[in-house]
This record gives sequence, structure tokens and C-alpha cells, in this order.
Amino acid sequence: MSTPRVRIAPSPTGNLHIGTARTALFNYLFAKRYGGSFVLRIEDTDLLRSDRKYEADIFEGLRWLGILPDECPEQGGPFAPYRQTERMADYVIAIKKLLTEGTAFYCFHSEAELVAERQQLMGAKRPPIHMCEFRALDAREAEILTETKQDYIIRFKTPLGRKIVFHDLIRGELSFDSDLLGDFSIAKRIDVPLYNFAVVVDDYAMHITHVIRGEDHIPNTPKQLLLIEALSFVVPEYAHLPLILGPDRSKLSKRHGATSIIDYKNAGYLPETLVNFIALLGWSPGDDREIMSHRELIAAFSFEKIQKSGAIFDVKKLDWMNGEYIRAKSVSELTELVLPFLNTHLGLALPNSDFPKEYIKRVIALEQPRLKKLAEIGSAAEYFFRPPVYEKELLRWKMMDDSAILTSLNRSAEIINSIAEPWSPTDVERAFLAAIGEGSKGELLWPLRAAMSGRKISPGPFEILTVLGKDKSGCRIGEAIKKCS
Ligand code: GLU
Repeated sequence: MSTPRVRIAPSPTGNLHIGTARTALFNYLFAKRYGGSFVLRIEDTDLLRSDRKYEADIFEGLRWLGILPDECPEQGGPFAPYRQTERMADYVIAIKKLLTEGTAFYCFHSEAELVAERQQLMGAKRPPIHMCEFRALDAREAEILTETKQDYIIRFKTPLGRKIVFHDLIRGELSFDSDLLGDFSIAKRIDVPLYNFAVVVDDYAMHITHVIRGEDHIPNTPKQLLLIEALSFVVPEYAHLPLILGPDRSKLSKRHGATSIIDYKNAGYLPETLVNFIALLGWSPGDDREIMSHRELIAAFSFEKIQKSGAIFDVKKLDWMNGEYIRAKSVSELTELVLPFLNTHLGLALPNSDFPKEYIKRVIALEQPRLKKLAEIGSAAEYFFRPPVYEKELLRWKMMDDSAILTSLNRSAEIINSIAEPWSPTDVERAFLAAIGEGSKGELLWPLRAAMSGRKISPGPFEILTVLGKDKSGCRIGEAIKKCS
């Protein structure tokens, strides 16, 4: 195989979403596996819908994921330009060639006529394709008409009765009947190219060897093959990736939760989780590995292991995987990652003199085993940074009455007072267990833990006490006692 050159060609008409990120990743993994180049090209010919802010989002999202292109609009490359709007001269040359050679023609039907034709065909249960009578119009006559008529587009003169066959690297041989394609449109004007035409010119200009894209593009491939033939371009290899489906097996959409990469970032997923998770959307290494590094993914990637059926997007698995990656971080690294989330939640600028870095690290170490998304840190760890707010009822363990709760809290206050700082969780545990003796653990420890955290579920009381320290722990017991008095 020659050195692969692959590309993604997103339109900057929305933020980078999971589907494009998956296509980018598979292209990237394939390129890296075989020492090739991964190109990012921007399809911005739809001037009305394209926006530079979306382009910036696509660049940023890929950078965050670490799916770095070798060539792109930002850094250029040997086959510039990397934006369609900057390649106009090439499109004009190619379209003139097709017009001159009679493989493309001007169509003067109005939009209203085409809509009516489509409706009529669909009403008669026939494929809504347009076989255009203008294909037979004399080329010179057509040229003259373009000067007076406003409503025209340029179409490809699809050959009739042809079987178009290509080998898809994932799906095997696919075959199409040219009579079902119709005379498809390729440009609105000489200098306003449309997708199927522009993509073929771009791929050729950039020496693209493999077109790896979503399966929704399969119907475009025979059209593109006809254009490639008419322009005497080189035919690339094709690989069409399976659709990404929601748990209800319908095409993944906003309905299934966040689909834009930036939303996942804001929710506190780690980029390495997303890359690992996305890699498994339709591909597997062929063994039971699930947690795989960038390098392992590159080494294991192959088209043979890509499935044909739709890939289900399972958020539960994503959350599980993120938890695994979170647990694999060092406490220092995780602390740096969660600090922005913590600060946003608390409205603080931690670390500060009340809560130095070492304190925060102890909190994070305690929360790390349970954390699934970085953004959860705010509500999970809030009580380490401000006194908890809770109802008195939370202090009640099973059937304890109010006076029993009060006794329990007073006992805890005494024990806390009796332990010398610095204390370790073991010191704290030893002191409390000695006090409990043969008595009920719950009666002493539940009110204590509730008073410290204000929550039903939290890390154990000894760990919390150790992080909070003697003063804060004592104050919180005091507050709980007040609630019961
Ligand atoms: N703009 C198209 C898309 O993002 C490109 C398709 C292609 O790769 O040919 O779906």
C-alpha cells in the first residue's frame, strides 16, 4: 500500500459533534498506523450556513481530543488551500472541462418545476430523480441562455444503463444502477460548486488515497465515481463507517444527550476517555481490551475489525470509562483538572489561604474513587469548603429519638476533642471504635458523618474528619448539636 493520505472534510455549519470526531479518529488512526498523513479540510462553500466560529470549534475540539491533523487551514501544508472557498480556480477549470466535453450541461428548470416533478414522481412511487431534457440542448445555445435566464444550475450528464461498482473496505463490493442517479446537480454557477463535485476535485488535488467517512455518504459515492471518471482523476479507496445510534437504535441526535464535543468537555469527560470510547464505536481490537491508550489504538487499528451494523452510543459505558481514566490519574494531576470545575461551582478562586493546595488534594483523593465526571466534583465536594446545609432529620439513625441523637453528637464532640492533631484516619478510627466498644456503630457514626457532610452518601466519617481537621469538625458537631437542642 502506498503511504496513505486521508482526510476529513467537515462543513463549518455547527460545532464538532461525535460523528465527525469518530470519522476524524478513524482517519487519524489509519494514517498513523501506516505512517501516512491526516488532512483536515473545511467544506465552506455553503456561504449562508458556514461560520468561522464553527470552524474554530472544530479545530479546538480536535486539538482537545489530540486528533491532530498533519495538514489543515491553520498550519497549511503541501496541498493548500485547505478551505474550499479558496480553491475556486480549480473548480472553475474542472467544471469548464466537463461542460466543454459535454459530460455536464446547464439545466434551466425553475425550482418550482423541479419540486413539482419530484412530488409527481413520489406520488407515482417512482424514484425522485431528475432526468433532464436540457441534457440534449446544444452547448452553445445553452451558454447564450445563461446570459438571460436566472434560474439555472449545472448538472452531470449521467450515462444511462451503467452499473457502477466499487469495493468498500468495510462492506465489500457495492453496486449501483446509474439510471437511479438521475442527472445530479454539481454546481449552482460556474464558480458555485456543490458537494459531490467539489469533494472530488479536492480529493484529487490533495492526493487523497482513502476516503473514510460515514455510511450516510454511500449514495454519493457512485456520483463521485462518475465525476472522477469524467475528469480522468485517480479513484481512491473507500471505507464507509457504520452509523452511530442512540440506545433506542435511532440515529444519534441531540435527543440522546450532548452530541457536541464541547458539551462533553464541559461535563468533565477527559479527552483520553472520549478518544478511547469513540474508537470503540463500530470498531474493536478483536480481543477483550476496552481501555486503550492512543498508542495502543494506533497499533491495533484495521478496517477488518470495523463492523457493518450501527454502533450504539452507550452513555453508561462512557461514564464507566471516564471513571476508570479518572482513577488512573495521580491526585496532583486530577486536582489540576478539577480545580476549574470546583471554582465555577463554588464561585471561588481556589487554592487560597483558607484552602491551600494540600487541603484540596486531600479532598480530591477522597472523592477520586467515586467520581465519574470532573464536573461532579462541585456538588460532591462542596461540604469540604463550606458548612453543609441539611435538615435535622438527616442526623437520625434508624429509630433513634432526639435525645439519643444529642447524646451521640456530644459523645462525638468529646472524642474529637480527645484526639491530638495531626491525626490520621487510623487515629480517628481507633478512638471512635474504642468508644463504641460493643455498642452500635450506626448510632455514633451516622449522626457524626451526617453532621460533617450533610449528606446521606459520602466517604466514611473518619476520612472526612481527617481532611476537615479538628477545628472544622468540632464546629460542625457544634452546629449539629444546636439543631437538636
Ligand atoms: N462535508 C461532508 C461531511 O462532513 C464530507 C463528506 C466526505 O467526507 O466526503 O459529511
